[in-house]
Amino acid sequence: MNDTSGTLFFQGGVHPPGNKKMSLEASITDAPLLEKYVVVLRQHIGAPPKPLVAKGDKVGKGALLAEAGGFVSAPVHSPTSGTVVGIVDVPGPMGPATPAVEIEADGEDKLESPLKPIDDWRSTDPAELKKRVGDAGIVGMGGAAFPTMVKLSPPPDKKIDALVINAAECEPYLTADHKVMLERPTEVLEGIAILARILGVQKTIVGVENNKPDAIAALAKAAPEGISIQGMRVRYPQGAEKQLIYALTGRKVPAGGLPMDVGCVVQNVGTALAVKEAVVDGKPLFERVTTITGSPIVKPGNWRLRVGTPAAKALELAGGVRGEVAKVIFGGPMMGLAQKSIDVPIMKNTSGILLMAPDEITQFGSDPCIRCGKCVDACPMNLLPSTLSVAVENEKFDIAEDYFVMDCMECGSCAYVCPAHRPLTQHFKRAKAEIAAKRRAAAK
Ligand code: SF4
Ligand code: SF4
Repeated sequence: MNDTSGTLFFQGGVHPPGNKKMSLEASITDAPLLEKYVVVLRQHIGAPPKPLVAKGDKVGKGALLAEAGGFVSAPVHSPTSGTVVGIVDVPGPMGPATPAVEIEADGEDKLESPLKPIDDWRSTDPAELKKRVGDAGIVGMGGAAFPTMVKLSPPPDKKIDALVINAAECEPYLTADHKVMLERPTEVLEGIAILARILGVQKTIVGVENNKPDAIAALAKAAPEGISIQGMRVRYPQGAEKQLIYALTGRKVPAGGLPMDVGCVVQNVGTALAVKEAVVDGKPLFERVTTITGSPIVKPGNWRLRVGTPAAKALELAGGVRGEVAKVIFGGPMMGLAQKSIDVPIMKNTSGILLMAPDEITQFGSDPCIRCGKCVDACPMNLLPSTLSVAVENEKFDIAEDYFVMDCMECGSCAYVCPAHRPLTQHFKRAKAEIAAKRRAAAK
């Protein structure tokens, strides 16, 4: 479909209140050095990395703490210089405890990166640049934390001709990418150009929602030839890969398919900045810009936080909280993960910490479906959430599979519009986990 300006847009989706203004005012602030960091080893989708340090080891800022544990994996690096206290279990963002390297800072905070700056990346072999992205531990920073080097390594039979940059930041409340585009447009574009060189593509499109005209202008002013900046309709989930590719290229990723099936690779704008820093500055990924926001936060804003910063310390930076807090979420309200503990450390993909007051959250219940059809209209994947949810409630996972539950991207649009407050997304997450387990068992 097209709007009146000719911009392509996807069917379905929702338009929740943005609530972005509260964290957009101030510039990105560097968090002060802490006495202690706890760096979770498994920061990404794939195999856990193998620790290379032990209790008592001295480490420099940027030193390798753990190496990749396989092809789909990523190393982790020290956020400061200091001494390894040990490998401890900490609350993880997914719920269960997870191993982390605890580091006591020595206050020196001197960068001792194992990576050398690559001065002229424009004439460097793309394979070397790709290796650098892997060695720097870069993962998708927009949410999924998939190792970036793997995404840059499509199989030979998948011809990639377009790099698509996700600068939509369509999740309500989050403004970290917006601020990065405003404050560091040249570096973001350099990272994008490096990604394009690695992939060998001539066509690069950066998609920004039209509610960020200042970011569109900042990027357009600095964009070199070959990178086009395109405004997009404001509608959630505009930043989802399939919806983004359609809006920017008109290509439709088939059901069950991947962007590479239509010749595209998608990367996030924060990831592009990390790529620039890894290649040009020789800096591994050990810090990121994170939005700390929500009505209970005294001073909402965007901070450059080191990976391994306990969330409780990050909240202190934002002036602490006022009033009652009903929910702490890593990420945004639609796709973020509710947290049980504020001891969970910042990860490479922590785009935001959102606090919500009791009157701002939806209490999901077990009311029956009233067959209003609103979820069907809202689903950007053209699924039947009402039918799927009934199948899952009755543990009929084979029926859910037949109705394409594996194509659900867990965007939450259906749950957002459901007048019966049915926990639709939770149902689909459960069904996908059950079906994936069944498929793994069958493969064995
Ligand atoms: S969570 Fe899944 S079923 Fe619901 S709207 Fe999003 S893609 Fe559709
Ligand atoms: S929106 Fe809720 S009540 Fe309406 S059809 Fe979908 S699941 Fe049923």
